Amino acid sequence: MQRDHAVVVGAGLAGLLTARILSHHFTDVVVVDRDRLPGQAQPRQGVAQSRHAHGLVARGQEIFETLFPGISGQLRQRGVVPGDFNSDIDWYFGGHLLAPGKSGLTSIPATRPTLEFEVRRRVTDLPNVVVRDHTEVTALRTRHRQVTGLELYSLPTKTSQEIETDFVVDCSGRGGRLAKWMATQDMTPPDEETVEIGLGYTSARFAVSEDPFGDKIATILANSPKEPRGCFFYRSPYGDNEVEISLTGMLGDHAPTDLPGFMEFVRSLPVPSIYTALRGAEVVDHPVKLTYPASRWRHYESCPELFDNLVPLGDAICSLDPIYAQGMTVAALQALELDRLLAAKRFSARTYHRACARIIGQAWSVSAGADLAYPAAKGRRTVFVRFANQYISALHVAARVDPVLSNTFFQVAGLMRSPATLFHPHVVARVLVGTLRAGRTRSLEPTRSNRVHT
Ligand SMILES: Cc1cc2nc3c(=O)[nH]c(=O)nc-3n(C[C@H](O)[C@H](O)[C@H](O)COP(=O)(O)OP(=O)(O)OC[C@H]3O[C@@H](n4cnc5c(N)ncnc54)[C@H](O)[C@@H]3O)c2cc1C
Repeated sequence: MQRDHAVVVGAGLAGLLTARILSHHFTDVVVVDRDRLPGQAQPRQGVAQSRHAHGLVARGQEIFETLFPGISGQLRQRGVVPGDFNSDIDWYFGGHLLAPGKSGLTSIPATRPTLEFEVRRRVTDLPNVVVRDHTEVTALRTRHRQVTGLELYSLPTKTSQEIETDFVVDCSGRGGRLAKWMATQDMTPPDEETVEIGLGYTSARFAVSEDPFGDKIATILANSPKEPRGCFFYRSPYGDNEVEISLTGMLGDHAPTDLPGFMEFVRSLPVPSIYTALRGAEVVDHPVKLTYPASRWRHYESCPELFDNLVPLGDAICSLDPIYAQGMTVAALQALELDRLLAAKRFSARTYHRACARIIGQAWSVSAGADLAYPAAKGRRTVFVRFANQYISALHVAARVDPVLSNTFFQVAGLMRSPATLFHPHVVARVLVGTLRAGRTRSLEPTRSNRVHT
């Protein structure tokens, strides 16, 4: 392959990470995004999720720091307070607090606009990368299975232009252009696997009179069949004494956007201190809602034919249930794989897709697998998925009294270790002992019966 010009479709986090990787392998890289990209950290239209909670799990944090050295320090200067992924966050599963333990894994609760802005600043500083915003990629030019150019449409001038390219990465997100382009070229588009979860995020920002977190950085209530309502509650980097909360509800049970309805949902959560912290607080950003019907994995690795020099990356391949916060890290792992194959000078789309499928498979087994524990979630429920969900639910019970187990769980959820770790005999033994101990210990944590009533 002649390595001169590369184009990245989309300047979301997958696109920016990809541009950073391609800048090593190509003479010039053009990143195209249809949004007008803001000159500061603020949500934007093309990334509807940018108004909602976004955290990097531990592995992602490591990769971002490797690709953009010093970024954690820069985020800190922007008001983001990092902490230990386990001991500095109050994690609730099934309405119960997990035993906090020092995990040694860093959590950076940067909001999505803050993280994206900082990464974009770094990428636009690269001498051979140009970001063309307010420009849509509308079509492909191809010869056989090679892409030779792209058609760009400038939204402000309403004019089209063609650019030549030697390599294209489609980072256009969940909508993913590639599957549609394949159909126009008489190629078989990928099979799609979905798990229908009917998830809703409703998020708002408040000014509070007292910091509700003390020496912690966040309170996170994971949704589960026992407690299908959850939240991410954390300090906002945008203003002193400001907090943000994303309320998460499964299978159509979504928090409303009107304030009374929103607060009612907060009040129904199994941790009453959250309602107490927000009751009477001043609203800074009114509630906004995003619905996420299903996790979706496009299985390009099984396509009979692929373009030689056009591959997707990030949500364009697989959009994972956002509650598990894996999407940006999985995109970063795919970008590293792209780097490895380009550096070895033996890039093949097939090899790349097989590697991506392995990366995604691990994350999918954690998040999509867990979602299938909801009897009403629609997806492929294998015998192993049923068994694993029973077992992980027992692990969460045992992790209420065993910080080694909560740490092990967060290492897997943080994509630092393989899901197989959770089934190691040492871990299984701790789960057995822990469930017995937890059964004997009357939990002092709030449960449904002591939610706030007015
Ligand atoms: C509510 C919610 C919360 C989430 N929370 C987390 C979290 O806590 N942690 C985590 O790791 N992940 C989280 N995710 C997932 C995460 O946002 C994505 O996985 C990650 O950002 C990678 O997205 P992407 O860059 O592939 O796509 P996107 O972020 O969707 O970006 C796609 C870009 O492509 C542009 N584009 C689209 N079509 C075209 C076109 N034809 N021409 C030009 N430009 C185009 C769009 O304008 C956009 O900028 C969350 C997702 C949601 C929905």
